Amino acid sequence: MIAIHWFRQDLRIADNPSLLSAIESGHLLPIFILDEVNNPENARGGASKLWLHHSLNALNKALDGNLRVYSGDAKAIIMQLCDEHNISKVCWNRCYEGWRRERDGIIKAQLKARSIEAESFNGSLLWEPWTIVKGDGTPYKVFTPFFKNGCLNAPEPSQPLSAPTNIQYASGDFGSLNSVNDLNLQPTIDWDKVMLEHWQIDEQGALDRLKRFAEEGVSNYKEGRNLPAHEWTSKLSPYMHWGLISPRTVWHSANMMGDDENVYTFKSELGWREFSYSLLYFNPDMQWANINKKFDAFPWEKDTTLIDAWQRGQTGYPIIDAGMRELWQTGYMHNRVRMIVGSFLVKNLLQHWHHGEKWFWDTLFDADFASNSASWQWVAGCGADAAPYFRIFNPVTQGEKFDPDGEYTRRWVPELAELPKKYLYQPWEAPPMMLQAAGVKLGENYPQPIVDLKASRERALAAFKSMRTD
Ligand SMILES: Cc1cc2nc3c(=O)[nH]c(=O)nc-3n(C[C@H](O)[C@H](O)[C@H](O)COP(=O)(O)OP(=O)(O)OC[C@H]3O[C@@H](n4cnc5c(N)ncnc54)[C@H](O)[C@@H]3O)c2cc1C
Repeated sequence: MIAIHWFRQDLRIADNPSLLSAIESGHLLPIFILDEVNNPENARGGASKLWLHHSLNALNKALDGNLRVYSGDAKAIIMQLCDEHNISKVCWNRCYEGWRRERDGIIKAQLKARSIEAESFNGSLLWEPWTIVKGDGTPYKVFTPFFKNGCLNAPEPSQPLSAPTNIQYASGDFGSLNSVNDLNLQPTIDWDKVMLEHWQIDEQGALDRLKRFAEEGVSNYKEGRNLPAHEWTSKLSPYMHWGLISPRTVWHSANMMGDDENVYTFKSELGWREFSYSLLYFNPDMQWANINKKFDAFPWEKDTTLIDAWQRGQTGYPIIDAGMRELWQTGYMHNRVRMIVGSFLVKNLLQHWHHGEKWFWDTLFDADFASNSASWQWVAGCGADAAPYFRIFNPVTQGEKFDPDGEYTRRWVPELAELPKKYLYQPWEAPPMMLQAAGVKLGENYPQPIVDLKASRERALAAFKSMRTD
């Protein structure tokens, strides 16, 4: 008998409960389906697809070339496999987006109607969202009680499972595509080479990152996580999004790193990931609908020139431009800088958070339906437990505070490399002689600021007030 394990966001061999269950139930048929039919409006962005391409190739290698890949409607593909082959069981690790839960529910029912066993597992979260709820059964809306009273009082996540050995594979013609290349996940124009230099996209790459974090990052994490010039965070997010490493592996490794406030802070960040999934589970329309409905009346403006300058890292505010260029060139942006560029877009530029969410969805390697929408709503002030709208980050003082030596900003905005620290975050204030000595020509090789900070801040506060009185 053949048992299918359907890989989705669990592209790993280690600590994969569904994969182990399939292996125990029969000859393994490992499959991956690129399903853009059931969610055309939420198709993966370019960076995400690139990561997926490389992850699938690595996974196929780990499975001795036995991974079968498909493109199309997952419901139809799985039913066809079941109708044409001797399949006894189909299993997968759960995903939490509304459209996927709906689709997977249909698949489960269709398999049961064919008397084929269907089983799903938790392979992507520390705790299932429906298990971390308040005493009265309602979901948490604030992070701290969610993490402290909910997560930390729940049973400790179980230890990670070992990777299987000696897998017996199903053989035959299963109508799959010839190779991962046939999924056409790679860009047609050549923008990926520089990005890929920053990452080793396989399970070992994730373990190496974790090891490096344990050796170099965690001892200073509580403070160091705010300083983008240094690699003091784990940079595990794309690996965790695609499941090249399981959250349980990360959590239990963190337990081995000690018991101090740095480790606690790191575990609480894993908690923010769980919180985002809880929000998504209980607010399936969170990607487009404000959690705080009051914001439905917010007077957003739409100016594509401003959005374009923000996307390209040409706003004239060096810390913003550094972040947006880091994103474009590496598929990643430091969390502190994500918060600063987010605040700038929705507050100083007064553009809807949807524009930021969509750009990040397309350009981040770790683009994640739950964490991305929850974080954008947090930045905009319309989410659960969100940053208050009236707290507007000042990109000059944020740069001075979190990149005090200017190392990060100079790395990504090289045209300002020679500008002294005093003016690095506000080049328009520098004396002309100094600009000239640093080779900076404002409006020519580096832009003038696209908005005035004081005026745009006042405009944002007025917009916020108008919404409250509406
Ligand atoms: C506007 C905005 C958009 C974001 N979009 C995404 C996204 O699409 N995907 C994504 O994974 N994260 C997103 N984040 C959260 C956060 O920025 C990244 O998870 C973090 O920067 C990843 O770097 P790291 O792996 O070094 O994190 P670390 O500091 O090492 O944290 C460890 C892990 O905890 C999780 N985590 C950390 N912070 C958060 C957070 N605030 N929310 C949820 N999970 C968190 C991640 O899985 C991360 O890998 C966003 C944040 C903002 C402000």
